[in-house]
Amino acid sequence: MVEVEVRNLAKRFGKVVAVDNVSFRVKSGEFFFLLGPSGSGKTTVLRCIAGLEDPDKGDILIDGVRVNDVHPSKRDIAMVFQNYALYPHMTVYENLAFPLKMRGLPRGEIEKRVREVAELLRISELLNRKPAQLSGGQQQRVALGRALVRRPKVFLMDEPLSNLDAKLRVYMRAELKKMQKDLGITTIYVTHDQVEAMTMADRIALLNKGVLQQVGTPSEVYHRPANMFVAGFIGSPAMNFFEASVVEEEGRLYIDTGDFKLELPSNIAGLLRSESEVVLGVRPEHIRVYMEKKPGAIPARVFVVEPLGFETIIDFRVDDRVYKARYPKEIYVEPGTPIYLEFDMENIHIFRKKDGKVIV
Ligand code: ATP
Repeated sequence: MVEVEVRNLAKRFGKVVAVDNVSFRVKSGEFFFLLGPSGSGKTTVLRCIAGLEDPDKGDILIDGVRVNDVHPSKRDIAMVFQNYALYPHMTVYENLAFPLKMRGLPRGEIEKRVREVAELLRISELLNRKPAQLSGGQQQRVALGRALVRRPKVFLMDEPLSNLDAKLRVYMRAELKKMQKDLGITTIYVTHDQVEAMTMADRIALLNKGVLQQVGTPSEVYHRPANMFVAGFIGSPAMNFFEASVVEEEGRLYIDTGDFKLELPSNIAGLLRSESEVVLGVRPEHIRVYMEKKPGAIPARVFVVEPLGFETIIDFRVDDRVYKARYPKEIYVEPGTPIYLEFDMENIHIFRKKDGKVIV
């Protein structure tokens, strides 16, 4: 059982605030993701956990024990990077055995562990090859194996799949996810790729400009984003945002974008009565598109269609701005074609305009 806790972590580089008072707790055996755009502080958090950076403030706890003053080599952590340099002159076997030799383990024990890890990662038949004779995915597995043979308490991974081609990356996602669960080693994984985080994570911590935005399961951050940043970062195509006002007419509450007006369902209305300027968020999958006129539906025009075979992304214009909707079939329509939209009101999000925080 190995828990990792980051408490009020802060780190600056000169004037740049890389990490700003970040706290989270990773449960034992969890596959935990740090997700955010480039420069959001993910790698710095990971390096502080590993002991490769000294925090300005805050504590790192492993199993409840503060490790700020524990040397990286004594933290019992293994790290896998994007650039997994294998030793080119050594065979796969020698690459895997190397960290154990360095620790002076007896030969029999080394052989046993190398064979175990090779079997787990399904690279047993590659043990006599040199890295140059391996595919990218196989090399990545050897790199993981080299971290694993040490049997670390905690695994840290920094974009380990980003050097692989798109197809292999998708394949390795499933492999890694399965391996992480089989091993049960507490793992913290850094990525800027929201699909990677959504498909693999038990829980995700989203960072923006060094500030923690939300921690939650993939389902929570998708369905209940805490703010506009999370709402816009999770999901592809991204959520549509419409600036709007809350207006009351004859006792009913509406959201008015200037181009269209929607009546708010009674369960939401109560929460919005005291709000004025808001942003309406609607995911492309929560917009129904009709080709025929429909009472109550919002009129729009097709900007362009993006066919994906099994579905079509319809880019549409309302006034002079472009938004996206998912159409569950293949469809080809000319730019400028009139369409009619219905929003799935059960799944809309409303944010306060001034700070981007979610209201509903
Ligand atoms: P990426 O996905 O691009 O790796 P990241 O989210 O991992 O980004 P960090 O690498 O943690 O972000 O960087 C956070 C901020 O701190 C950035 O503005 C970066 O330029 C800065 N930074 C990171 N390391 C250093 C350093 N050693 N010296 C100066 N600035 C640094």
